[in-house]
Amino acid sequence: MAQVILLGTGAALSDETREHTYMVVKGDESSILIDCGGSPVQRLSKAGVMLDSIDHLVLTHHHPDHLYGVSVFLLDLWLTGRKKVLHIHGLSETLRATRAMMHAFEWERWFDFGFFPVEFHRVPNDAINLQIVTPEFTVSTVTTEHLLPTIATRIVSRKSGKAIVYSSDTQVCSSVVELARRADILFHEATTVDKASLGHSSARQAGAQARRACAKKLVLVHLPPNGDVKKLHAAAAKGFGRAVVVGKDFARFKF
Ligand SMILES: [Zn+2]
Ligand SMILES: [Zn+2]
Repeated sequence: MAQVILLGTGAALSDETREHTYMVVKGDESSILIDCGGSPVQRLSKAGVMLDSIDHLVLTHHHPDHLYGVSVFLLDLWLTGRKKVLHIHGLSETLRATRAMMHAFEWERWFDFGFFPVEFHRVPNDAINLQIVTPEFTVSTVTTEHLLPTIATRIVSRKSGKAIVYSSDTQVCSSVVELARRADILFHEATTVDKASLGHSSARQAGAQARRACAKKLVLVHLPPNGDVKKLHAAAAKGFGRAVVVGKDFARFKF
């Protein structure tokens, strides 16, 4: 059965209990990494995900808390002897920033020493786009309303037909509601409990978004440092009226 494993659940300013928010979608044969925080290989190993099972990396936007682990992730895949291609998906701005970051580490030279192939795939920034089709999953995206160009993702298990959606960073946004329509699980950011925050959502707003989308379950991620779990839960549950989970690092959700 497919599952989402939260590798981190913190906001940009996090605390000692939470890595920055990123997650892996693990199937029977393959896995998809969504965003890439600071210690991906250590976290994936702890989560029991085979590094070689990851064929696709989806980057939602180029704020550091979502992207900064890419360089060490690529280096470590190389050190494990990887030979096969890794596909990296993102908006043109995100891919440009990723390449620039890798350039700072002079990764062009790595290819002279047997570095595995990396293919970049540009996600268009319009409507709902079907981006990735694998034997186990389909991945669709929309752009969100954030401080810079950002995508939300919907991943459907082809085996179960169930869908999970990750909002990434966004303020209240109708395109995310559309993408999350009747999703089995909506992973929505909640950077505050109830306070308005430019480009972001509160837990209360995440609950309202989940209700509008008729999602079946809401999991809060991208949580504030030292956030009060009870208050986050109560704020989201009030607006949603269905099952709410406050995300924890390494929590697993089957779908
Ligand atoms: Zn963020
Ligand atoms: Zn952001």
